[in-house]
Amino acid sequence: MMLDPVRAAEIAANLAEVRRRMATAAERSGRHPEDVRLVAVSKTYPLADIAAALAAGQHDFGENRLEELWPKVAAAQTEGLEAIRWHMIGTIQSRKTGDAVGPLALIHAVDRVKIAQRLSRDARTAGCVLDVLLEVNVSGEASKHGFTPADLLEAAADLLALPGIRIHGLMTMAPFEAVPEATRPVFRALRQLRDELATRFPHGDWCELSMGMTNDFEIAIEEGATIVRIGSAIFGARNG
Ligand SMILES: *Cc1c(COP(=O)(O)O)cnc(C)c1O
Repeated sequence: MMLDPVRAAEIAANLAEVRRRMATAAERSGRHPEDVRLVAVSKTYPLADIAAALAAGQHDFGENRLEELWPKVAAAQTEGLEAIRWHMIGTIQSRKTGDAVGPLALIHAVDRVKIAQRLSRDARTAGCVLDVLLEVNVSGEASKHGFTPADLLEAAADLLALPGIRIHGLMTMAPFEAVPEATRPVFRALRQLRDELATRFPHGDWCELSMGMTNDFEIAIEEGATIVRIGSAIFGARNG
């Protein structure tokens, strides 16, 4: 694997700038910078770019397609990049849940009961338990994946009882807004839903809020994000 030093320096500088902006947003809202985790979204980018980010101290990486994730996990192992924690940030098709069972730090986008049930079943078959977040469609747009808040409140007890998954909180994607400030109500609503779940189902773990991308991560942090998923601000704009 060839590491281009110019490209590596660019990624390191971008990472430093993202971390600086994250820390500023955390402090602005009275939070500790270390309470917000950065997942570097490496989809479409090569392993050399991931290696450059790792060398700059970035350990959590996110991919949104299992077909791209597992070859990268295997290649990273071959290259000795074992310190990486991999996150599956995309939704999973119901016939592919078996392919999601593996060494993942977190599955971010469990978007309906059927997926949760199948992931649980497939994890138990493999003798493991998967760490997951539940994706919420806060804005209610038909084009978006995820539980509606009302559906999630209704399904939560059953989801918490599934033996093959451990739920750690919620995830959402805000609609793209030309003015990032316009995303604030979405992030606030996710946090309020989390607070309600924590009150009604106190035996569950609702700590994590995975929200905020390149366009809107500072707003998400101000509204309580514990994980931000950032791609283009680190690796550059993707083609397609
Ligand atoms: C691609 C992607 C991101 C990162 O998007 P950027 O705008 O490049 O930061 C975050 N979350 C999910 C689910 C994604 O698919």
